[in-house]
Amino acid sequence: TRLLEGKTALVTGGSRGVGTGIVARLAADGAQVAFTYANSRTRAEDVAAAAVASGGIAHAIHADSMKEEDVTSAVAQTVDRFGSLDIVVNNAAVGTFGPLDELKMDEIDAMLTINVRSAVVTIRESLGHMGSGGRIINIGSINADRTPFPGQSVYALTKGALASLTRGLARDLAARNITVNNIQPGPIDTDANPADGPAAPNMLGVMAVDRFGTTVEVAALVAYLAGPEAAYITGSSLDIDGGFGA
Ligand code: NDP
Repeated sequence: TRLLEGKTALVTGGSRGVGTGIVARLAADGAQVAFTYANSRTRAEDVAAAAVASGGIAHAIHADSMKEEDVTSAVAQTVDRFGSLDIVVNNAAVGTFGPLDELKMDEIDAMLTINVRSAVVTIRESLGHMGSGGRIINIGSINADRTPFPGQSVYALTKGALASLTRGLARDLAARNITVNNIQPGPIDTDANPADGPAAPNMLGVMAVDRFGTTVEVAALVAYLAGPEAAYITGSSLDIDGGFGA
């Protein structure tokens, strides 16, 4: 069953990693999917082509989440192309790790802007186009609730901000029959956090499940929250973390 047939989705940061998995899954479930990328143009074109080759609809939009006008334009381009907007997934993010007094201000500003501000702008721009049954899904992190390793303070703050934003927006939007939720992954095998990277053994050491998660597993949770069966879930942060937070 293609539960998202006729729905339009916008996914930020779909050119690599978790975002690519989300684009593929939503398109496979029948949604028309627009997604943004900043630097990885070839990867983005491949993601769109793969979805189309599988019988789906996907469209790549160049939009740098550091730039408010790009973020605003991505929402407008999605609606121009597909005529509606039902599902927004705020996935694009960056993480730079280190002690606060060793992080550069432009690294801190990039985390705050891409991870938080652009998510707020994307949602704000989308709301005017979103009707009953709308879905807003943020990709937070289990680091919002558990930050066991040094150097993650600002990254964790950005993910905590998404959890709080989710609770507040859920209250604002329930009367419009729009749900707002926040997915909190633990270690997921991507460019940003490779399962064979130097930090992997430490992460596995604090987890219940002895492996990294996959982008396919996170995308399945996104698809569930985006679908009609999840109408009673709102304001929630859902962990998908192999027990990292347990
Ligand atoms: P990756 O670094 O592998 O991919 C990040 C994606 O975001 C890319 O498609 C990238 O596009 C895009 N992106 C980055 N900066 C910008 C920007 N300025 N404008 C537009 N797009 C941008 O990350 P992951 O897939 O690992 O992470 C995806 C989400 O999951 C993030 O929110 C992350 O915080 C969260 N997460 C990931 C975990 C993990 O272990 N992997 C754990 C917990 C949460 P491009 O290359 O085109 O610039």
